[in-house]
Amino acid sequence: MKVRKQPVRTCVSCRTTDEKRGLLRVVRQPDGTVCYDPKGKMNGRGAYVCAADACIAQAERQKRLERSLRTSSISADVFNELKAAASSMQEPSNEAVVPAGVDEPHQRIMDKENKV
Ligand SMILES: [Zn+2]
Repeated sequence: MKVRKQPVRTCVSCRTTDEKRGLLRVVRQPDGTVCYDPKGKMNGRGAYVCAADACIAQAERQKRLERSLRTSSISADVFNELKAAASSMQEPSNEAVVPAGVDEPHQRIMDKENKV
């Protein structure tokens, strides 16, 4: 008797199940091809890894995805895609907020006075 469990997304490296971390899906397609599935809609057996360099590197090093997907090898391209996806998801948090060159109020006041 088989119990069908709800599909749980679990990182193959750190076993985190929190979807807020943005797990990346890797799929073994019916023809045996393994690829990164950015939209999470591909058919096949899926495995997940955090969008974090450490988890992707660990998965690669320890062949976690291979084990999870029951395949013999996964192309380095897949890992490169995962790493690229992870780095694009990791927004630099502070840099964008720094005000670039605040206008000098004095200059404006002077301009107004000159016009009068
Ligand atoms: Zn992880």
